[in-house]
Amino acid sequence: MIDTFKHQGLRRNLIATLKTKGIENQAVLDAIMKVPRHFFMDSAFLNFAYEDKAFPIGADQTISQPYTVAFQTDLLDVRAGMKILEIGTGSGYQTAVLTNLGCKVFSVERQKTLHKKAVQMLSKLNSTAKLFYGDGYKGLPSFAPFDRVLITCGAPYIPEDLIDQLKPGGILVIPIGDGDDQIMTRIVKKADGGLEKTTHGVFRFVPMLQNRQTS
Ligand code: SAH
Repeated sequence: MIDTFKHQGLRRNLIATLKTKGIENQAVLDAIMKVPRHFFMDSAFLNFAYEDKAFPIGADQTISQPYTVAFQTDLLDVRAGMKILEIGTGSGYQTAVLTNLGCKVFSVERQKTLHKKAVQMLSKLNSTAKLFYGDGYKGLPSFAPFDRVLITCGAPYIPEDLIDQLKPGGILVIPIGDGDDQIMTRIVKKADGGLEKTTHGVFRFVPMLQNRQTS
């Protein structure tokens, strides 16, 4: 695992691409600059690590496109010290970006092989993130409440348990839709518990599966 000048240069180009695509949040761009995305990809795809594309990570899953990671992280509006629940650890790349922003990240993954791989990679990077193997629909009630909740797979609906685990004033970002496409949705939980929803365009995620934990 080496982060060479070449990788850093490619990452700088990626940041320029994300800016031209409309990402303006400097803190998010800085975090993406700091995380070596190629550490989170299979060696067969290393040459593509800094293209703005999703790639297979095994178990039929993908590492999200950098633009999507930047877009979701921007919508989540995080600050250092916040407690974040992430559903869909996958490669652990998005987890690492949030950790670099100074957040305490709790991330859940339903595929055991991916969970184990992410645990290994993030511990090599001395990450403070806490990773769990389980069903994201249930969240992590014993660690709730969270300042922010981020779902990185396409959900057919908003899981009630995840809303319950969000602090009043907190924000949940979730791609909603059960077909190939999802609508990026941002939900603010108001002090009285009411929900304020806004939508932010169409994205494409792997599905959020229920009751189908696999090893
Ligand atoms: N954030 C990831 C993106 C991974 S793709 C990254 O940066 O690499 C979405 C992940 O969600 C997949 O790994 C998939 O296995 C996981 N997933 C799908 N349904 C889930 C569920 N119910 N609970 C937890 N994880 C789930």
